[in-house]
Amino acid sequence: MTTSTSLTIIQMNDSHAYFDQHQEMFWKGDQAVYRPAGGYARIVTLVKQIRAESQGRVLFCDCGDTLHGTYPALKTQGQALIPVLNSLGLDAMTAHWEFAYGPEIFRQRAAELGYPVLAINVFDQVTKERVFPAYSVKEIGGLRIGLVGIASNIVDKTMPASFSEGLEFRLGREELPLVIDNLRSQEKVDLIVLISHLGFPQDMKLLSEVNGIDICLSGHTHNRLYKPALQGKTLVIQSGCDGSFLGRLDLELVGNQIVDYRHQLIEVEAKIEPDPGVDDLVSQALAPYQEELSAIVGKTATALNRAAMLETTMDNFMLQALLDGTDAQLAFSNGWRFGAPIIPGDVTLNDLYNIIPMNPPIATVDLTGEEIVTMLEENLERTFASDPYNQMGGYVKRGLGFNAYIKIENPAGQRVQQIFSGNQPMLPGHHYSTVFVTEQGVALKYGQQRELHPERAIDAMLAYLKKHRSIQAELKGTFVAV
Ligand SMILES: [Zn+2]
Repeated sequence: MTTSTSLTIIQMNDSHAYFDQHQEMFWKGDQAVYRPAGGYARIVTLVKQIRAESQGRVLFCDCGDTLHGTYPALKTQGQALIPVLNSLGLDAMTAHWEFAYGPEIFRQRAAELGYPVLAINVFDQVTKERVFPAYSVKEIGGLRIGLVGIASNIVDKTMPASFSEGLEFRLGREELPLVIDNLRSQEKVDLIVLISHLGFPQDMKLLSEVNGIDICLSGHTHNRLYKPALQGKTLVIQSGCDGSFLGRLDLELVGNQIVDYRHQLIEVEAKIEPDPGVDDLVSQALAPYQEELSAIVGKTATALNRAAMLETTMDNFMLQALLDGTDAQLAFSNGWRFGAPIIPGDVTLNDLYNIIPMNPPIATVDLTGEEIVTMLEENLERTFASDPYNQMGGYVKRGLGFNAYIKIENPAGQRVQQIFSGNQPMLPGHHYSTVFVTEQGVALKYGQQRELHPERAIDAMLAYLKKHRSIQAELKGTFVAV
């Protein structure tokens, strides 16, 4: 008789340095509803429960975007998270925004972690050697498991140059077959788990081209997969963001074959009792900033969230604040996916830092109508490219002060049907004064009279909140899919 063995895999992805519980958005019928979720102390309680249920036959992996995204993380270049992360019992991680502190700092952080950072696709530009190991092997209950990491490959393509200094980021497709072969033939593993930060569409394409991966833990695109996707024989899961969810995959194996599985997308609910030890570590990490960040700086009448493709109330508030402090006609920012929702009521300084933790300086530039359309077309292609490998954006670029009617399904350069500034069509040769934040908002190649201002994004939002009794940030139809 063949005997089966079991293994439980837990996934955390895109937790974006949300130490503690925060608001999370959920769809209910025709509207968005909000409730608290997340926090590492509650995550650990869940992980401990799962370990007890599975007699310790548990693999726990983190797909990255972990060391960046909140004020305490940014202030300490990720250091504040290390004791907390080291208490979670993780087996491995890969990376994306971790590179925001520069490759050297990230290497230091990686050395401080009690588990490996894996990246098959990150190389030194000069030596062509890997900066992190491509894989590690874990032995759990008699099973040998090969863990392979793929970091985000857009770090040297669409992000600020300082993130990737001296490094080269590849897709990983060329490198994977060799490593898979080595894991099977030399390391004699029973199972291969890919820990990816390429994004869900990218992973699905990659897995259609590369055989031999049993499980893909996908990250970056903040998908809440309520059931696994199958690509060939590979099971793919992704589990939301901001630590609001864990993914759980219970496998039954006979030899090295998966014969059965169960999956659950677990909400890290408020009713879960926080683990006291990790709760202490979280409190210690947050203590130096608690007073400053809990200051109430204004009110919002609109629920501010960012979890939508074309336009969001959270970005509209930030862009409105940028416009308010200047005499610009248009405002631009990047379509970042991070940023926990803010519910109607008081707004704290912590909320503002969650919107834009980097707190970049405000910049102004003159853009012609033609440049604006070119810039939007470039962004729409990066977001909606029919080849997932060319999808390198987050959400659509955020803008205010114009209305663009777009055909998402069209080829590159052909998506903007009509664009208006007020009631007038935007004119190719006309100059539009523009305020923006970061080179991801308006890339260096666009515009004239580019000027960096001493005020920063948070200054603009604070000034706006002082002036206005309460935030009204309804959707404006900036991008309409037609
Ligand atoms: Zn990411």
